[in-house]
Amino acid sequence: MEQIVLGDEAVALGALHAGVSASYGYPGTPSTEIMEYLLDAYTQGGPIARWCTNEKTALEAALGVSFAGRRSLVTMKHVGLNVAADPFINSGLLGIKGGLVIAVADDPGMHSSQNEQDSRFYADFALVPCMEPRNQQEAYEMTREAFAVSEEFQVPVLLRLTTRLSHARAGVSVEAAQGQNPLSKAADKTRWMLLPGFARRNYAGLIEKQGAILAWSTAHPKNILEQEGRDGSFGIITAGLGGNYYEENREDLIRLYRGNAPARLHIGTYPLPLGLIRKLCKDAAQVLVIEEGQPFIEAKLRGLLPASCGISGKLDGRVNRTGELDPDRVRISLGLPPRPTVLSGGLTLPPLPNRPPQLCRGCPHGDSYETIKHALAGLENTAVTADIGCYSLGAMPPYEVPESIVCMGASVGMAKGAADAGIAHVVGLIGDSTFLHSGITGLIDAVAANTPMTLVILDNAIVAMTGCQETMVPSARLRELIRGLGLGEEHLIELEAKKSLIQENAARLRAEITYPGLSVVIFKRECLEATRRRKKKG
Ligand code: SF4
Repeated sequence: MEQIVLGDEAVALGALHAGVSASYGYPGTPSTEIMEYLLDAYTQGGPIARWCTNEKTALEAALGVSFAGRRSLVTMKHVGLNVAADPFINSGLLGIKGGLVIAVADDPGMHSSQNEQDSRFYADFALVPCMEPRNQQEAYEMTREAFAVSEEFQVPVLLRLTTRLSHARAGVSVEAAQGQNPLSKAADKTRWMLLPGFARRNYAGLIEKQGAILAWSTAHPKNILEQEGRDGSFGIITAGLGGNYYEENREDLIRLYRGNAPARLHIGTYPLPLGLIRKLCKDAAQVLVIEEGQPFIEAKLRGLLPASCGISGKLDGRVNRTGELDPDRVRISLGLPPRPTVLSGGLTLPPLPNRPPQLCRGCPHGDSYETIKHALAGLENTAVTADIGCYSLGAMPPYEVPESIVCMGASVGMAKGAADAGIAHVVGLIGDSTFLHSGITGLIDAVAANTPMTLVILDNAIVAMTGCQETMVPSARLRELIRGLGLGEEHLIELEAKKSLIQENAARLRAEITYPGLSVVIFKRECLEATRRRKKKG
């Protein structure tokens, strides 16, 4: 049976059909739609699916499912893996029982992210297998297979996705779903306790498995070597979506080489199939690597191939080092001329107008930013550290308030450090969901030290930027939570983010900013999109 689905949905379907018992995640573009699909299935009686406070708690919950012998999926965007890195790296040393698959969607080109990090490095670092589908069908099939691979080698498997695959639709042929694993708790406790004595033994076991994992990867049918009738003096290595972009230019390439096209290896699984790479490059004087993301394969080749073989790719600039690949960029790197872009009648397309992202008209954050600007006006020695969310757009005109945006939760710790360093009037700015994700621990530090800073929480009662998911703690309980950290009532202020209250709110905020201790000011008003969706639902 064929279904038309997003790449993300193909992963969700693959997990459901592999008998997943529970899925956990934290929303983040381009991975969000995996969990949205699973949540829909859950509301219709499917297996457990839940958003979590952050990626670390999501992965830890999944480890509990695996410990109980059942299959679990974790979803996140690439920077989320930094947050989950601690349990992720350690999970390779455990005796994974029920299959554990971690679907991580990378965002080359930074469409909605703060960096271009490549999750393949994480799998390599953790010594666990990684699978990289190049189309929706493979996303479905590889997800299904990843659970079995995880159980076979007793390690988690990282499924690496990228934006264009996650967010494009295609037909996917699906197979009959299998049932869930029976509940069967891990029998050997020492496999799950990383006390030094056990951890040393477990780590040795993980190293020992590497040969079998490499053999699995080398023999995997998604790694395809095309040498027959090809010119072996020029080898092309493609991986993931890079394989599709190569295919789009293949006919022209064959013409360019007068039928004697370069030999090629497509890679879909990791660890790198070293034997296949050596075979491809046996007689090669030149190798070109086309991979989406960072030069993961290319950098490894430099230690693998003889110096006589020239290696090209992102590191020598033949393939674009930053941003996404696309068929036209790959075409140029293959030595093909640019495609003509003339329309019928000789017309050429005018350049697309630039549409920078903006806050929605009437967004509560706009009023909060106006308030903060008024509150800071005329003060000297100030700093505003901000965070990740819709309110990051306050860095753009007309507000231009934030001076730093680093990673989820960093605004709080940075505000504390800036105050410790001697900046007199420091404001940390964070959304309600980001605060719960990883800002709260920074606030615990600030409470303990009574740091002279003001934390402004922009509470729009929803995880707005990723499509209005519910926050883990409803707005009504946010104050109670912060009180529980030890902050007194006097400097815990709630204000309504509203245009008509800007002057009044600015005076109250300024009083807190100039107070020589810690204060938290919560600006409250629901996101407009959340209101619209709530009304639509009735
Ligand atoms: S989605 Fe909501 S929070 Fe985001 S910009 Fe629009 S109104 Fe503001």
